Amino acid sequence: MHFSELPLDKSILKAIKETGYDAPTPIQEKCIPLVLENKDIIASAQTGTGKTAAFALPIIEKLIWHQNSKKKGKKIRALIVSPTRELAVQIQDDFKTYAKYTNLRTTVVFGGTSIEPQKDVLKKGVDVLIATPGRLLDLRKQDILSLSHIQTLVLDEADLMLDMGFYDDVNKIVKVCPKNRQVLLFSATMPKKVLQLANVILNNPEKVEV
Ligand code: AMP
Repeated sequence: MHFSELPLDKSILKAIKETGYDAPTPIQEKCIPLVLENKDIIASAQTGTGKTAAFALPIIEKLIWHQNSKKKGKKIRALIVSPTRELAVQIQDDFKTYAKYTNLRTTVVFGGTSIEPQKDVLKKGVDVLIATPGRLLDLRKQDILSLSHIQTLVLDEADLMLDMGFYDDVNKIVKVCPKNRQVLLFSATMPKKVLQLANVILNNPEKVEV
């Protein structure tokens, strides 16, 4: 399969071409159409499988669909929650690469660093936010951001997130997103606590394994 066989906008295909990727990886082939159909997903996928693009590309595609008619809003429409700062930064870099020919705005926030510059960026408005759980909730508590317009929520490395003690934070985040949001859960392993979380937050999910 070639990327151009997937229903992705020209601007995205151009950016992919520049990265030098030849073909979608198996997880991308499986996830991209499902995400575009608004399905919830539970995917078991290790780092290195191309999982970031498996959610980033269709998220960008859906944000482009809804973008043309409206002027730039202040509301965050896609949220990616990541357990660590390093992973969050990597995801942000990937979004930037794939969305470089769109006018979508992405940013990343994480703890252990000054919150003020993050507030300034968020106040200007972003479409896609990548965040670690604690800093995300801090910013929300301070009324700097609202999750009431989230269309797609990604929980990346869910097993690690729960191992790090973020169960309550993740639940809180999910609860303040709209009821009809799409949730994509990615995890390298599927221990009981990940399945329990999935059970509570996913709506009739498609299972994806690679
Ligand atoms: P990930 O599993 O998201 O951490 O991605 C692992 C690596 O694979 C990253 O360096 C990506 O840039 C790269 N990658 C993602 N999709 C593809 C693809 N379709 N073909 C080749 N490399 C890819």
